[in-house]
Amino acid sequence: MHHTHMIIDGEQLPLSLDKVETIYNPANQEPMALVSVGTRQDAQMALKAAEKAFPIWSGTSSERRAELLHSAADLVRERAEFIARLLTQEQGKPLKNSRAEVLSSADILDYYAEEGRRNIGEWLATSRGRSIVVRQPVGVAALITPWNYPVDLLSWKVGPCLAAGCTFVAKPPSRAPVAATEFIRAILDAGLPAGVINVVHGSGGEVGAELVENPISRKIAFTGQTETGRWIMAQASNQIKRVSLELGGHAPFIVCADTDIEKAAAACAQRAFSNMGQICISVNRIYVAEEVAEEFTERLVWQAERLRIGNGLEENVDLGPMFSHEQRAKTKEHLADALNKGAALLYGGREPEGEAFDKGYFFLPTVLDRANHSMRIMREETFGPVAPIMSFKTIDEAISLANDTNYGLAAYIYTSDIATGIQAAERLEAGGVGVNINNVMDYQMPFGGWKESGIGRELGHYGLESFLEIKHIRLGI
Ligand code: NAD
Repeated sequence: MHHTHMIIDGEQLPLSLDKVETIYNPANQEPMALVSVGTRQDAQMALKAAEKAFPIWSGTSSERRAELLHSAADLVRERAEFIARLLTQEQGKPLKNSRAEVLSSADILDYYAEEGRRNIGEWLATSRGRSIVVRQPVGVAALITPWNYPVDLLSWKVGPCLAAGCTFVAKPPSRAPVAATEFIRAILDAGLPAGVINVVHGSGGEVGAELVENPISRKIAFTGQTETGRWIMAQASNQIKRVSLELGGHAPFIVCADTDIEKAAAACAQRAFSNMGQICISVNRIYVAEEVAEEFTERLVWQAERLRIGNGLEENVDLGPMFSHEQRAKTKEHLADALNKGAALLYGGREPEGEAFDKGYFFLPTVLDRANHSMRIMREETFGPVAPIMSFKTIDEAISLANDTNYGLAAYIYTSDIATGIQAAERLEAGGVGVNINNVMDYQMPFGGWKESGIGRELGHYGLESFLEIKHIRLGI
């Protein structure tokens, strides 16, 4: 059984028996790790350590910070297989996806190592004097992350935070803290000064709330549910803290009649079902031009049927279990509501059969037809492997349906007419639009949400800026 420790002020804290929780594998409910669980006091200690280390780290040259971040990336790569296996066991995703997640996190550290060296200022001479503009690290940051990509989403924050010269306390998701903590440990082992990086485990309501409320943290970088983000933003307002919030999504996928239907269906299935639909940019609603609706629907069902389901540790598995009983129960609730309101079930809608699936939170990828906007599945984030289809007559209708949501994270359109694609992309209300591509994430580009999907941007140089304050130095010369 793996042991997961908290890291405060450069030390791994020993597991204390009265404050330990067991983490279970969602594929078979077997225990896979013991995790030490922190309290508000642990969070305070970690914040103080990060505060003490801030002058040291912010005073370290950008070249040295880059060197350490590159060494950290190398160590993450060396330990990638070990971390990926832990990730699959705690989260459920197939090993190939866990490996990709861990390796991508190493790439993010390398990217920000170099981005941090480009924090260049401005200079202007005017008739009124001289001005210099510098960007300085905001201070101690609280990094709070969810369970669906516990390593990757942490790296999106850790990379720019360290490159900017900030120190941090991270709080990984309480039920999936194992791989994320090993990722942090690899960074610590690269030789960062004590106190620069800290990890405290525990519940959002206790440890997370302390990190948000305590005046030592000057910035909160959060990924999670919109409801949690709303609470964090309200608390942060008391001290006018900087926040970046990456929240829920409800992505539309528009299929125009002129597109290659086979390719569109394959891309749609991949984005709707991978990670069991537990991705903020998953396809949640499909709008298909009515003249190709039948063909598209058949092909989507065919795609769903051929996905291999199983324990993520087995090679060649496409879909593992869902993360938890609660996630599966919510998916079933949304399905029942849609079926009650007239949706037609074309594939899935239940657990797969067989002994191998008895103990895990498995569920078949599910395709629904005749969906409409009165259904919860078309309005609320299901976070499950369900693809509901609705047909449209005109592109204007498709775009207004796509925008009929409080969310605005990602949107997709498939068309062979580039003008239609670009015009639709301009009108879709989302932080990222994929035209003939089913992923809006590229680590060199900004990522974030419109409307209730969030505030601020991660990745690219925008990610670095969110950990920097701007200062105008005016010279009377
Ligand atoms: P969650 O909001 O329940 O939890 C996220 C983190 O916040 C966890 O570490 C949790 O312990 C902590 N937390 C909970 N209450 C808190 C509080 N009061 N104060 C401080 N911290 C608190 O989210 P989840 O269920 O773990 O993750 C799934 C959600 O994340 C989905 O809505 C998904 O769309 C969203 N998400 C968004 C993005 C994005 O980039 N926009 C990416 C991935 C996931």
